[in-house]
Amino acid sequence: MNADILIVDDRPENLRLLSSMLEQQGYRVRNALNGQRALTAVQKQVPDLILLDIKLPDIDGYEVCRQLKSIPTLQPVPILFLSALNGVFDKVKAFQVGGVDYITKPFQEEEILMRVGTQLQLSQQKEQLQHQNQQLAREIRDRQVAQERLQVLLHTVSHDLRNPVAGLGMTLRGAHSNEAGQAILERSMRETMVQSCDRLLRLIDSLTTDPPETEAISLQPQWVVLPTLTQSLLREWRSMFERHRVQLDYRIPKDLPRIEADPDQLARIFDNLIGNALKYNKPGLKLTVAAIPKETEIRCIVADNGIGIPPQQCGRLFDRYVRGQGKKQQGLGLGLYICRQIVEAHGGRIGVKSKPGRGSQFWFTIPV
Ligand code: ADP
Repeated sequence: MNADILIVDDRPENLRLLSSMLEQQGYRVRNALNGQRALTAVQKQVPDLILLDIKLPDIDGYEVCRQLKSIPTLQPVPILFLSALNGVFDKVKAFQVGGVDYITKPFQEEEILMRVGTQLQLSQQKEQLQHQNQQLAREIRDRQVAQERLQVLLHTVSHDLRNPVAGLGMTLRGAHSNEAGQAILERSMRETMVQSCDRLLRLIDSLTTDPPETEAISLQPQWVVLPTLTQSLLREWRSMFERHRVQLDYRIPKDLPRIEADPDQLARIFDNLIGNALKYNKPGLKLTVAAIPKETEIRCIVADNGIGIPPQQCGRLFDRYVRGQGKKQQGLGLGLYICRQIVEAHGGRIGVKSKPGRGSQFWFTIPV
């Protein structure tokens, strides 16, 4: 063992004796003849152990010990007091100021080596334990983060599967049957259902292709014609709209410039905003889906004339797991958080304007 030991003693013969004993065992030994020098020596290099005489010419050993222990890097370093057998030695005080053991003069080689060895071993074990504890704490933190991400992912996907699945169910229930009891699906209805299923499958696939190491949404951008995307999406909502007696006001101009975006993720935003309008408001709602081209972006709007949202709630609605305060709150408070993640991944912004009793207007921008 190559530990560094500092001996603080004003008597050269003691220093010589102790040094040679310890050096023979392979320890590196440094000497200090008084308290002040000891304090300087530890600044140069933190020793692994200190042997400290009680009686020193300048500052007494207790005080030196106290000053050493007030230096943060020296707190774990074991300090053993050296005291004369017949001298005045206050053991309690020695422990109070931070000493871990004491050795009485005249020195017995075996005893010194045993006590020094034991203290070095103890401090090494303590250091190892501390290191292991820190590593464990890090691992626990990492696992908590991973678990939280997994939970959010699970909630997110189940949240976003809900609207399309409910739409599919509604469409199927609305299908007529012929005299033989066979369901008759109009061609357009069948196409919409296939399209809906494809979208659901892509969402499910993203679970395995995008492992939840990061929370960021990964995009598969392509050129998107917004009127085409929204019209086909709104066809999936048709049965739901009929059930909720929604009056749809569609205002997306045909000649809107193309945007580079992930169409499935854009559809998730519209799904969430439209789904919310239906979920949080009474039937008979007027729903506006609009898009306005601006110089550098397209501003998309999903607005309703429903119950609205109190102004003090509007700011936080896009945070994770934040729900409104109303009595009939259903859901996890994730939809708008997902929308914000997707919009921000596209480099856009999202917000809401609302007047309680008059309705809510959710808007988001996508850069052109
Ligand atoms: P969830 O995922 O639970 O539906 P969201 O994050 O989508 O939650 O929405 C957060 C809250 O915003 C809801 O709990 C609701 O109070 C409010 N909210 C969202 N959209 C509307 C809306 N169109 N009309 C009224 N309240 C809404």
